[in-house]
Amino acid sequence: MYGHPQDVQGECNARLYLGDDYGDNECTIRCQREPEHEGKHRELFGSPGREVMIEWELDERKEREAAEAEVEKVLSEEEPYEGGPYNRHPK
Ligand SMILES: [Zn+2]
Repeated sequence: MYGHPQDVQGECNARLYLGDDYGDNECTIRCQREPEHEGKHRELFGSPGREVMIEWELDERKEREAAEAEVEKVLSEEEPYEGGPYNRHPK
């Protein structure tokens, strides 16, 4: 499965975004606990003998949405490059 995980009904769905070692990719961790749960968010994955559990505190969805809205705002205010939108980085 590629792309962001879908929300699952009946689960918390809080997100944690982790970057890779090269800074050009990321993965999304999604909380599988019940909605409105107490304590940390949690995702379990892996396979028998290689189980992984990630716990975290802050649901990063609001920060992500705010950051994406800011990017949209900046892009919408940017002066059009004379080479056109597909030529922002001429060689
Ligand atoms: Zn959660």
